[in-house]
Amino acid sequence: GKHAGRNNFQFYAREFTARSLERMDKELALRKALKNGELEVYYQPQIDLQTGLLIGAEALLRWRRPGLGLIEPDDFIRIAEESGLIVEIGEWVLSVACGAVARWNARRSRPLKIAVNLSPRQFVRNELVDAVARILADTGCKPAWLDLEITENLLLEDSERTVSMLAALDAMGASISIDDFGTGYSALSYLHRFPVSRIKIDRTFVDGIDGQAEKSELVKAMLSIAAALNLGSVAEGVETAQQAAYLKQRGCRAAQGYLFGRPMPLADFENFLNKQTAS
Ligand code: C2E
Ligand code: CA
Ligand code: CA
Ligand code: CA
Repeated sequence: GKHAGRNNFQFYAREFTARSLERMDKELALRKALKNGELEVYYQPQIDLQTGLLIGAEALLRWRRPGLGLIEPDDFIRIAEESGLIVEIGEWVLSVACGAVARWNARRSRPLKIAVNLSPRQFVRNELVDAVARILADTGCKPAWLDLEITENLLLEDSERTVSMLAALDAMGASISIDDFGTGYSALSYLHRFPVSRIKIDRTFVDGIDGQAEKSELVKAMLSIAAALNLGSVAEGVETAQQAAYLKQRGCRAAQGYLFGRPMPLADFENFLNKQTAS
């Protein structure tokens, strides 16, 4: 009856308010985190599977929240995206990561590449291209040292703006990787319509190499696609030597995962780097 309806409404209203308050709270905290230096970039090594050499790192965001410890992106990226804060945060990650790789490469003969994740939200406005150009100039990072990771879902819309922005980033000399390859809904045809240089095989497929025949077949198929289209390949979430051996044997170019190194703070990654050059 009438009363039940009203009670339901009050219940939902209360629930809704509690949830939106929690979100507003987190958004506000995130805004402050950016200003107060609570955000941190972690680095995870990427290895050339064929030579075993370190070729670069992926920059992964962390939030060191006072009193709450280290928070992983799964807990705050969505709020950053929905609030639009990801645009500012994303540019901050880019400048920190580009600065780091420029410093590393100043003392190396074989330059490393830094991979940075871009949210679809960062493609909503054209400013991204100018921001990347400015950050490269400010940090002394060469465009060829920067790899931009985008997801298939960005390409799904296939908007003129996205196409031209990707073309501009490519023309600048940065490379573009398709993150979480195989998990989105896109048709494969985008691989030659967009300036893509490599695919990142999602962890959910790599996971299955050890036991699940179907998943190993899928990984094999993805590697054939990469080879046929002259694209590089990176396997994500490589945790075992068997997975690495399987991938290597089937021509996978690079790998990233706990087997080679976890995402680590700058100081730890620099120690890791020094050990590499020493050996
Ligand atoms: P992603 O881009 O797919 O990043 C790979 C995730 O896999 C990372 O999670 C990494 O810590 C985890 N990982 C790496 N190797 C292994 C492994 O061997 N085993 C397992 N189980 N996991 C592994 P993380 O750091 O929690 O990041 C989660 C997601 O958050 C990222 O997924 C990415 O989509 C997003 N993200 C992280 N940093 C940024 C950023 O700066 N900007 C944007 N837009 N998104 C970011
Ligand atoms: Ca995680
Ligand atoms: Ca990524
Ligand atoms: Ca991924």
